[in-house]
Amino acid sequence: MTYAIDLWTAPALPIAGTSELFPVRRVFCVGRNYVEHQKEMGGDGREQPFFFIKSAHALVPQGGSVHYPPKTANYHYETEMVVAIARRGRRIAARNANEHIFGYAVGLDMTRRDLQQIGKDKGRPWDFGKDFDEAAPCGALAPAARIGHPAKGAIWLTVNGKERQRADLADMIWSVPEQIEYLSQYYTLEPGDLIFSGTPAGVGPVNPGDQLHAGIDGVGELKVTIAPPL
Ligand code: MN
Repeated sequence: MTYAIDLWTAPALPIAGTSELFPVRRVFCVGRNYVEHQKEMGGDGREQPFFFIKSAHALVPQGGSVHYPPKTANYHYETEMVVAIARRGRRIAARNANEHIFGYAVGLDMTRRDLQQIGKDKGRPWDFGKDFDEAAPCGALAPAARIGHPAKGAIWLTVNGKERQRADLADMIWSVPEQIEYLSQYYTLEPGDLIFSGTPAGVGPVNPGDQLHAGIDGVGELKVTIAPPL
């Protein structure tokens, strides 16, 4: 059998230090996973985090030029550590979660904040606020076999050279193993799945021409320039 239209290539991330690619299946994202970010979004800092999903086709591997998206006037960055799953599992205990992880990267959970707010106000899905073209720039994966499993260390972002976000991975409400334990009760996690593990405080708007530089100590860095709308 052949396909009636051209088959697209799998979304994939480069693996740092190799010529191999990591094919991406699904992109899970945890919301409100840092206390100070909960507070800046209007919460009391005591909420349980939760998940939403972006299309794997929203990935922008290794960043670069990302177009200002349509239908928004409040386009935000969120700097996050991205976790790549390489081994299938369901109902994974947190103590075993690291065995399912291939590696880690720096990602940006780009957000149309105004459209997300409409979703919140009306009790509608967040998709238009979170899942759109080029909404998930992501750097190269650093294999856990090389860097281990980072549970602390600085996560930061500058915009045009000014620091906008700085926190520590240890400030997550749900650690990465706890996220995997929770998520794998609802889904069978599969090789190729990614988890965006939440943003610290300091989120804010960007505009065409802005230069974003994100990093996580021991994991990597990611550079994005906001291009004019298509
Ligand atoms: Mn986020």
